[in-house]
Amino acid sequence: MLLDVRDLHVEFRTRDGVAKAVNGVTYSVDAGETLAVLGESGSGKSVTAQAIMGILDIPPGRITGGEILFQGRDLLQLKEDERRKVRGAEMAMIFQDALSSLNPVLSVGDQLGEMFIVHRGMSRKDARAKAVELMDRVRIPAAKERVGQYPHQFSGGMRQRIMIAMALALEPALIIADEPTTALDVTVQAQVMDLLAELQQEYHMGLILITHDLGVVADVADRIAVMYAGRIVETAPVHDIYKAPAHPYTRGLLDSIPRLDQKGQELYAIKGLPPNLMAIPPGCAFHPRCPRAQDICRTDEPPLFRVEGPGEDGERRSACHFWRETLRDA
Ligand code: SF4
Ligand code: MG
Repeated sequence: MLLDVRDLHVEFRTRDGVAKAVNGVTYSVDAGETLAVLGESGSGKSVTAQAIMGILDIPPGRITGGEILFQGRDLLQLKEDERRKVRGAEMAMIFQDALSSLNPVLSVGDQLGEMFIVHRGMSRKDARAKAVELMDRVRIPAAKERVGQYPHQFSGGMRQRIMIAMALALEPALIIADEPTTALDVTVQAQVMDLLAELQQEYHMGLILITHDLGVVADVADRIAVMYAGRIVETAPVHDIYKAPAHPYTRGLLDSIPRLDQKGQELYAIKGLPPNLMAIPPGCAFHPRCPRAQDICRTDEPPLFRVEGPGEDGERRSACHFWRETLRDA
């Protein structure tokens, strides 16, 4: 296994109290595999990613428990300089907003080249050639002519390709993409997502794709982990989830995807708001919003039950007392 996150806990200490952002997340990613991590904002999906990348070790964020095994080593036991090496060369992250992640006063070629100069000890000339090669790789037209241009001279979609090129530069074993296409319009979104999926296959990398939009991951993900209130509530092979979700929250997310054949109809929205992380509801954290909630849901926190059912291809789990009924009614 490339990455194994086990029972991870993260807290944020604020003036108003302790926000429990991640509450026992367990997931894993293999080489060549794409895991989509799904949830509303505040579900803990980005915070988990930041903990994996090691960019959370600054107060007020604090990892209070768990293990992050990467290629067999627990990253939480590494010293900061060892950690930095892993972060630079073995795992990379792509963010939503390329414009604020790229340096506005450095040419794209200089930023890409920098990676090879710093990490591979290349000459400026060789690094520039590598930059052009990477820009070609992510299909930026006329790479040779554009390598000296600045980030603002590229469109949003092209800038996101440059971010992908930066992430790929050192051929990491794992890429974490946090809402990589959210800022783009729909057609460009699909192109960037396809490119990412293609390169991931070509380089045989593990990919964690963080998104709030179940609609964009259907074609590219192998498995999905759905998060709510800092926990995984359902995890399954992607096709099983689309066929029949085994958790009412996943059902709600599926029903909120706009569909072409339902144009004009009002879009379903899960009622209520995500919970306050300083006061997560007892029992099942989703119960105040769940159309299926019963008494037991208000008192007993559901474990991640193993789901058995038709169409199963790979391990599937749901943290719902009524997963059988949810699956049956899907
Ligand atoms: Fe809904 Fe209860 Fe299942 Fe939670 S455990 S998702 S409240 S039915
Ligand atoms: Mg986020």
